[in-house]
Amino acid sequence: MDFSYPPETERFRTELRTWLAANLSGKVIESSARRGTDDAAFETLRTWDATMADAGWAAMALPAEYGGRGAGVLEQLVYVEETTRTRVPLPLNIIGLNNIAPAILHYGTEEQKSGLLRRMIRADDIWCQGMSEPDAGSDLASLRTKAVRAGDDYIISGQKIWTSLGHRADWCQLYARTDPQAPKHCGITCFLVDMSSPGIETKPLVTLNGDADFAEIFFDEARVPAAAILGPLDGGWQVATTTLSHERAGAARLYVEQQILLEELIADLAAVEENGRRALDDPVVLGRLGKLSVRITYLEILCRRAVSAAAHGGDELRTASLAKTVWGEVGQELADTAYDLLGDGGGNGRWARHRLAARSLTIAGGTTQINKNVTAGRMLGLPRS
Ligand SMILES: Cc1cc2nc3c(=O)[nH]c(=O)nc-3n(C[C@H](O)[C@H](O)[C@H](O)COP(=O)(O)OP(=O)(O)OC[C@H]3O[C@@H](n4cnc5c(N)ncnc54)[C@H](O)[C@@H]3O)c2cc1C
Repeated sequence: MDFSYPPETERFRTELRTWLAANLSGKVIESSARRGTDDAAFETLRTWDATMADAGWAAMALPAEYGGRGAGVLEQLVYVEETTRTRVPLPLNIIGLNNIAPAILHYGTEEQKSGLLRRMIRADDIWCQGMSEPDAGSDLASLRTKAVRAGDDYIISGQKIWTSLGHRADWCQLYARTDPQAPKHCGITCFLVDMSSPGIETKPLVTLNGDADFAEIFFDEARVPAAAILGPLDGGWQVATTTLSHERAGAARLYVEQQILLEELIADLAAVEENGRRALDDPVVLGRLGKLSVRITYLEILCRRAVSAAAHGGDELRTASLAKTVWGEVGQELADTAYDLLGDGGGNGRWARHRLAARSLTIAGGTTQINKNVTAGRMLGLPRS
């Protein structure tokens, strides 16, 4: 693994730092924590996404002709490091940019690409991804939402759940069953659905920490044109599983984010004293912080291996899935440690809220158990059962 950066990459870093120093405000950073409960905060973030896009600092990995920057892996890595360290909020359309845009680029018609991508990057349109259903999560191929051909249209009926930003979305990348007779991995089709179509209703879901960042979506005979299909008819499984993210350095965010949280926890603990002794002089506290630091360093090595594989050609996915598992576990350990040591009021209640939010780290984007199955098969070569 060679992670010394060439001079042109360092120039890119300087340019980005300079732009962020001039443009990133405290209001934008603070809005991130309130976007699930505060419409004004959400709109601040939408404006910020457009500002970054217009200045050429959004969608690093996507082609310039559709509004991205078309940057290489090293520039992507520097971008992730700098934006994470300066606490730039994740783009509102992070799922769209990482998962949906690559599918549109790979399978989309020219009309879909030029009509949808730039608006997604600027957050003019908010996107959601309708995969999970009440009885189809890890086993996505069991999904039951159906789409039935009617002339030039499809009629969609069914329910999606846990859809991030579903209640705010203008567009949904939806997976629905078009051939109920086919084996379950076949007969699924991917649609790009305009959420203003009649017959679509959304209900926000409020999570443990009070945020309403995701929703249920109900389709009651919603009519969409056949031109809304992305990729082959009945080939939705292929669209869902073979489209690789263009964002090859995203793994770096995992360890940088945890490093920052650990630094913030140590800063908060520096002010704590019990029975005349500083918390940071307590060997038990130091032991817990030391263990976290070692785990985060291990996470950093895994992430750097995944990025190195992306840069030099290799199976980045097998390391990335292990990194995702470790990130979820470390994130929850850090959140639990912070809460144990600082209690309900620590950081003005921030650590208590963070502990609740961290429960999702081992579920979202593929659960820890499923990722361990991937690691067992792809890394260790173990049989499926
Ligand atoms: C913050 C957040 C955002 C999300 N955003 C979206 C979104 O935008 N769009 C969307 O479609 N979905 C979204 N989801 C849903 C997410 O993809 C699912 O929660 C996830 O795939 C798990 O599915 P499930 O909840 O139905 O759990 P289940 O699949 O029912 O799993 C329940 C438990 O069984 C375990 N399990 C299941 N199968 C196996 C197996 N084969 N081997 C071992 N263990 C197994 C799981 O690991 C889990 O612990 C989001 C979830 C969260 C938490």
